[in-house]
Amino acid sequence: MEYTKQIAADQTVKYLFFTSDKSRIEAVFIPQKRTQVICLSSQVGCALKCSFCATGALGFKRNLTHEEIILQYDLIVQDQGLKELPNIVFMGMGEPLLNMQEVSKAITYFHKKGLAKKKMTLSTVGILHAFEAASKTGVNLALSLHAPTDDLRRKLIPLAQQSTIDELFQACSVFSFRKHKPLMIEYVLIKGVNDQEEHMDQLIHVLRKHPFPYVINFIPYNPHAFAHFLRSERAQFCKEYLLRAGFKTFLREPRGEDISAACGMLVGTSQLHILS
Ligand code: SF4
Repeated sequence: MEYTKQIAADQTVKYLFFTSDKSRIEAVFIPQKRTQVICLSSQVGCALKCSFCATGALGFKRNLTHEEIILQYDLIVQDQGLKELPNIVFMGMGEPLLNMQEVSKAITYFHKKGLAKKKMTLSTVGILHAFEAASKTGVNLALSLHAPTDDLRRKLIPLAQQSTIDELFQACSVFSFRKHKPLMIEYVLIKGVNDQEEHMDQLIHVLRKHPFPYVINFIPYNPHAFAHFLRSERAQFCKEYLLRAGFKTFLREPRGEDISAACGMLVGTSQLHILS
């Protein structure tokens, strides 16, 4: 698979891969102080059309094969000359739980190659029918919640019409992903939409109703050409509010923003040029 790459000011590297059918997919290498992370794509585009996500605006073309998923990782490891295998997050283009068969094969390959399952994370907006298959992989789960009520969540994530937040947490408990490991909650902070005190109170209420060990990841929204939202200026407030309520909470530092490599910005460079 051929590729080009862009390097951000913070040393994040975005790879644009060209598949044999001329599809374009992106993966991101994120160097960190202690660990290295590769964010992989699982589909070409995405059918779910979350209103804040650039990939969703592209629509869906097809699932990636496990070979294409594996190649993204192997080519980045080779290009970066890495001696230690980097962690994997399936948070790139696509919803990995809608391509479980191929994603599972890729996870098996990475595990055989020597990457521990605790170093891999599947991120999902909540594909209930695939939770069982996802749990069988033995890797971590990150639940993209993004809103504390069903009404607001349905405005941001059309798929949320199909299930309630309560049903999602129920499924997480039935298929407890990695026993005794906290459930990661992803929450993109959008100005005036889901970042107010009332939203944080509602979020705390939801989390207390379903008593898991949690890690809350607040992600500052990354503005792009495909949506009209703005980044919240209340990220620190939200983090401290949840911390005070007793939840382990992190604020994800935006990485690779200047090359559109941050969360929710992946579209494939050439598509971006056509559409902008
Ligand atoms: S956030 Fe994830 S599931 Fe939603 S449209 Fe973007 S890639 Fe698809």
